[in-house]
Amino acid sequence: MKVRFGEISEEGLRYEIKDESWFPDHELQRTGPILATVILKRNGVDRVLLEGRIKTTIAFACDRCLEDYAMDIDESFNIDLEYAPGSKLEPAEHEISASEMDMIYLQEPVVDIFEILSQQVFLLNPEKHLCSESCRGLCSRCGTNLNQKTCDCKQVSPSSPFSVLKK
Ligand SMILES: [Zn+2]
Ligand SMILES: [Zn+2]
Repeated sequence: MKVRFGEISEEGLRYEIKDESWFPDHELQRTGPILATVILKRNGVDRVLLEGRIKTTIAFACDRCLEDYAMDIDESFNIDLEYAPGSKLEPAEHEISASEMDMIYLQEPVVDIFEILSQQVFLLNPEKHLCSESCRGLCSRCGTNLNQKTCDCKQVSPSSPFSVLKK
């Protein structure tokens, strides 16, 4: 879904994205519908401000117990798009800290909304995946999911200082 800068006014255009084809289904496992909203505002000849919001539910595998769990995502983001043909410049640091916006330089004065949404959804993907803060994970010896039952193994990992002391 592409919008040319020329179609965008200063008052802005608002899109409720019903089409879900942009979502990277082969990389992220979605368990609910997506609600995506995008507002485009013209900011001078070569600039467009994009205000986006993505709401959905994504299933992740827990880092500790490896079970799938669903996480509600509801994130807003702002991106400053600048038409700068031939530019591969990184945005200057002061610009980011002043506005806390991401900046994207475009080779053409065209906003590819689906591409931006699919990039953003990866940024919403948290670094740590835990089904709950108190997840007890798997036993490092027998692999039992300790959230579901306990096992008879001694819960001392071979690398811990205590096992060294024992010897
Ligand atoms: Zn877990
Ligand atoms: Zn065990």
